[in-house]
Amino acid sequence: MKTVLVVEDNHDDRALLRVNLEHHGCRVLEARDGLEGLEVASRELPDLVVSDALMPRLDGFQLLQRMKRDPRLCSIPFLFYSAVYTGDNEEQLALSLGAEAFVTKPCDPEQFWEILKRSLETIRENGDRPCPATLPQQEQFLERYSTIVAAKLEEKVRELEGAKSELEDKSRRLDNLFRSIRDVIVVGDQERRIQEVNQPALRTVFGYELDEIRGQSAELLYAEHQDFEAVGKLLQAERPEESGVCRQVRCRRKDGESFAAELCIFELRDEHGKSRGNIGIFRDTSESCRMEEKLARAEADWEESFDAITDIVSIMDRDLRILRINRAGARTLGRTPEELVGHRCHEVFRGIGQPCGGCPVRTVIGSGKSAGGEIYHQNLGKSFQVNISPLLDEKGEVRGIAQFARDISEQKQLAAQLAQAQKMEAIGTLAGGVAHDFNNLLTAILGYLDLADLQLEPDHPVRDELRQVQSAAQRAGRLIRQLLLFSRKQPMEFIRLDLNREVDEMGKMLRRMIGEDIALNLELSPDCWPVFGDPGNIGQVIMNLSVNARDAMPEGGILTLRTENVELDEHYCQLNREARPGRFVRLTINDTGSGMAEEIRQHIFEPFFTTKERGKGTGLGLAVVYGVVKEHKGWINLYSEPGLGTSFKIYLPVGTSTGEIAAAPAASVRGPRGNGETILVVEDEPAILQVTTETLGRHGYQARAASSAEEALAVLGGEGKIPDLVLSDIVLPGASGIELFKKARGQRPALPFLLMSGYANEKVHWPWIQTRKIPFLEKPFTTAQLLKMVQVALAWKGDEGDAEPS
Ligand code: ADP
Ligand code: MG
Repeated sequence: MKTVLVVEDNHDDRALLRVNLEHHGCRVLEARDGLEGLEVASRELPDLVVSDALMPRLDGFQLLQRMKRDPRLCSIPFLFYSAVYTGDNEEQLALSLGAEAFVTKPCDPEQFWEILKRSLETIRENGDRPCPATLPQQEQFLERYSTIVAAKLEEKVRELEGAKSELEDKSRRLDNLFRSIRDVIVVGDQERRIQEVNQPALRTVFGYELDEIRGQSAELLYAEHQDFEAVGKLLQAERPEESGVCRQVRCRRKDGESFAAELCIFELRDEHGKSRGNIGIFRDTSESCRMEEKLARAEADWEESFDAITDIVSIMDRDLRILRINRAGARTLGRTPEELVGHRCHEVFRGIGQPCGGCPVRTVIGSGKSAGGEIYHQNLGKSFQVNISPLLDEKGEVRGIAQFARDISEQKQLAAQLAQAQKMEAIGTLAGGVAHDFNNLLTAILGYLDLADLQLEPDHPVRDELRQVQSAAQRAGRLIRQLLLFSRKQPMEFIRLDLNREVDEMGKMLRRMIGEDIALNLELSPDCWPVFGDPGNIGQVIMNLSVNARDAMPEGGILTLRTENVELDEHYCQLNREARPGRFVRLTINDTGSGMAEEIRQHIFEPFFTTKERGKGTGLGLAVVYGVVKEHKGWINLYSEPGLGTSFKIYLPVGTSTGEIAAAPAASVRGPRGNGETILVVEDEPAILQVTTETLGRHGYQARAASSAEEALAVLGGEGKIPDLVLSDIVLPGASGIELFKKARGQRPALPFLLMSGYANEKVHWPWIQTRKIPFLEKPFTTAQLLKMVQVALAWKGDEGDAEPS
């Protein structure tokens, strides 16, 4: 085995040569320059030296020269393996100094080995070669050598310059790159002290100059200590190899302001894989966070407004598939918006395969213009005003629609109610006007009947006929009363009353009225709350409803009257439009009669609506009931189906007045007689004037007549006896009864008065009369009523302050 010494300053070249030589079975020694080469050669005495030409400290030529001068080394073959810089100058010099060969770098390994093998063989052939006898002159050598070195240096300088400018270029590019990055790149050492940071990002994001923070702990970039700690732990625990670890942190600017940032942290390693610290990349995310927040808020706002709209709002595609629907819309169907999205509008609202009739959706999709319409929803029993607007895409084509639907059921109902109320009002006015004249006539008829009665023998044959006349006139009076009641021109007297008592007292009369085929059932709840009402009117309501019930049960049945306490809450009231929350007494009048179909139910409260044959029904019964209940601030619920009977439920508010529960008025059969008192009767209607004065005369009074207020005042101011009582109509030609009252009492303050009127439309006067408790007689009146009120009035003095001074 041959030992070869490789003298070479370039590490890579040395390694290459070693591989090549060892491959061919040589032992390889290495030296990094001439000096070391000389040392190894002296020590090891190799079989061959392969040397580079130019090396630090001692180059190949000098090494060769020294070896040739050393008798121990001079015979070792010497081979140059080097690049050339000066043509064949090097080779010549080498050979002249006694080198075996000069191989120009780079050389193919096999070729190189061939040359080397040849040199080794030469040795074997020639044995130990003598040292060359003649060495080139020192001067000559130096001259040649300096040329080579100069050339080499020149070459090296050029190389270096090229490398330098390349390096500069690279560094500039890197620098530019570093500076262009907007994220802040912080290079830290292993103690996490700041080494390097890119400007201007550092200035823009953190507000620092690098010099201010270089060498300081990176903690100053963090707003919260625990973030800094957490990142530190991450670095230790994760030992991120290549991939960075990213997380959200709060950072602090130089001015103290904190902001949100995303931090990616990498471990920094040198070429040997050794950790040299870390690189942190900070990205300011405050703006994007703010945008996100803003967006989220805008979205939430939109969502909130959308759901706050009480109308139904939905957005649909061209196939009417719901894309969005607000809460109100979903609530109408008793669902949540999520349950409706994706389904077709008409399917979920109506369960039908086609758009609803009246829905203008087709028109809108066809024309691209908004349209509206009214839809009646059978299942919900509601009417909707629907407005549909197209949603256009960028090409102006309809991509969907926005639908707004408003529940107008109540509005429609109110409009209908208003029309009804107006109709009632008109009829009321008409009825009120007729009633005035009618009452006067009836008063005269009844008065004369009483007078005639007085003059007839008890067994006179005409008596029966007269009684018939009287009962007919009384019926006419009741009819007029109904008309007035219904037109609400009749003042009502509200007192606290016990409904049970009212019903109970009417029981006897009702039983007689409904006949034997109908059973009367009273179910009166024992501790019924008092209501605040007018007993006469409530009686009328019970009467009218019972009469209707009777008429509905011609074959017999059961009439039930029930009273009970009910307390209504908001929930109940939502289901029933007219209801209010609070305490009520409910009066139910139930029959097992014919019942009513929907078409009839809709009209029964209208005045003059009747299904009964001519002469049997007036159509006023329920109109009166309606009016009375309304006036009592109550309402009526009706349940009726053909063949199943009818149930009227009347809700009356519980009485709040402190007045006592009303006692039933005692019906007096005969009126008390007078004791010669003088009564001045003031009445413009001659028939009434006459019958009244005559009646009074027959019952122990002295009556005087006056047909106007002026005439009455003349009587009062005249010579004769001052009357004990003035009975005056209110509506008179010229000055009214009220004016007469004031003037007369101005002259005679304690003068008793009795006012009467058949035209109870004394809206203006009624409160005035009532507050003064002036005795009042309603026309038409019976003799008994007249006599009773005269007695009351005679005892009445009243308040003197109301009189007008004369
Ligand atoms: P009238 O009794 O004079 O016809 P109403 O106003 O009292 O007038 O009643 C109006 C209509 O309502 C009646 O004609 C009848 O068709 C219907 N009606 C009222 N009450 C009942 C009832 N209990 N059962 C069946 N139908 C009724
Ligand atoms: Mg009736």
